[in-house]
This record gives sequence, C-alpha cells and structure tokens, in this order.
Amino acid sequence: MNAHVSQGGWPVLVLNADFRPLSYYPLSLWSWQDAVKAVFLDRVNIVEYYDRAVRSPNFEFRLPSVVSLKSFVKPTTHPAFTRFNVFLRDKFVCQYCGAPEDLTFDHIIPRSKGGQTTWENVVAACSPCNLRKGNLTTAQAKMWPRQTPFAPTVHELHRNGRSFPPNYLHESWLDYLYWDTELDP
Ligand SMILES: [Zn+2]
Repeated sequence: MNAHVSQGGWPVLVLNADFRPLSYYPLSLWSWQDAVKAVFLDRVNIVEYYDRAVRSPNFEFRLPSVVSLKSFVKPTTHPAFTRFNVFLRDKFVCQYCGAPEDLTFDHIIPRSKGGQTTWENVVAACSPCNLRKGNLTTAQAKMWPRQTPFAPTVHELHRNGRSFPPNYLHESWLDYLYWDTELDP
C-alpha cells in the first residue's frame, strides 16, 4: 500500500499498532482516500488531522494526517531493494571517491560481464567515477568501493535515514518518526 501517494495530495502516515511507522523505507504512506476507507472499515484509529476537510451536503470529514492500525502487523526486517535505499545505505556519497553530487548507480561486476542488480553488486557512484570505471571490473579499473556492498537491515537504514529525512514530512508526522531512541545503537 506504499505506492498510493502519487494519487494526490494529503498523504497519511500509517503507524503500526505500537505507534511506530509501519515501514520507514519507503515510509508507510497511504492516500487520504485509502485512509478514510480504512477508518470506515474500522481498521485504523485517527491519530492526527490535517487542517482540511472534505465536505458533502450531508457531512464533513476532517482529513487524517496520521492513522494507526488497530491490529499489530509484524514489521518487515528486510527493506526493499530500491534506488533510494541503495543511496541511503551508501549515505548518499560516491563509494569510489566520496563525492556527494551527481550520483548514479554502478554495477561492481558490470552487467555486460554478468553482474546482477542486487544489494551486493550495486553501489552509489558519481558520474565521473561511473564513466571512468565503465565496463571494467574493480581490479581492471583499480577502483574499489569503500565498503563491501551488503543488504542492509531496516535498523541500519533507519540509522542512516536520520541524517537524510525524506523530502516531504508533514509536521504532524514528526513525533512519530525520529524519537525512536530504542533504535539507536
Ligand atoms: Zn566518485
């Protein structure tokens, strides 16, 4: 249900029954339409509201900005393999030279040599490094990533994510995102 934000504005942060986000990466967001549906189906409680209402002749409904599930869902421990999460694992710096700009993805074993698009074979790389490495292996190019790429846990991404909050954070969500001191090392 994470892909619904594009349906329109007023995304709703979805918390698990323990009031932690259902997922962090991607952040668990529903469209307001899905959230309102879930309210009427009695699956969620409304925790916070937007300062905005939808009206019909017969009723007015304030849009929720944060909802919590009524029954606990076991959180995933393995984050999705996405471009954003690769950057987050690599802290948004080129794994060859440390540049924070102009980031692309490099296949350590080039695709032309059978390299897979996986956590273990893809790293953040700036365009110049990516170009320089081209279709060479690390040994041929004499370019090695600063850390051996790995499949991160949600915990690890969350730790990195504190430095790189997502672009859109409604103020009513903030209380539910970053106070999670238990997740600190
Ligand atoms: Zn670089």
